[in-house]
Amino acid sequence: MIRIEPEAWKEMVRHAEATFPKECCGVMIGAEENGARRITLAVACRNAYEGDQKDRFHIDGRDQVAAERRARELGLDVIGYFHSHPNEDAYFSSTDLKHSWPWYSNVVMSVRGGVFSHAKSFIANDDQTAAEPEDLHY
Ligand SMILES: [Zn+2]
Repeated sequence: MIRIEPEAWKEMVRHAEATFPKECCGVMIGAEENGARRITLAVACRNAYEGDQKDRFHIDGRDQVAAERRARELGLDVIGYFHSHPNEDAYFSSTDLKHSWPWYSNVVMSVRGGVFSHAKSFIANDDQTAAEPEDLHY
């Protein structure tokens, strides 16, 4: 189960809509307790994918390092990552699976016509051959 607090969620929706029709990406920071994940800070990152960004993303390395440092400073952890699917549903694509890491939550946000539509969260298994949906609250 993952819960995204209102301030973090607002930032994720803002970033996803602002980058439309390109994919957005970012880092979700928070804590995990007894299997329940709580996101209190979302950090919008630059999409560094060198190609058509309408259906691909690559989190900018410097932005990722900065987000990890911010988490440490706050005594929190990087719990997962988010990205958007412009004019597509919120599903975990084979590309998403290939570029994900086990354990982390991956929130996919569907943005249609520049407006947020819906979101889902997924966790990849250890050998990245499949991803399980995760109960998402926002
Ligand atoms: Zn995706």
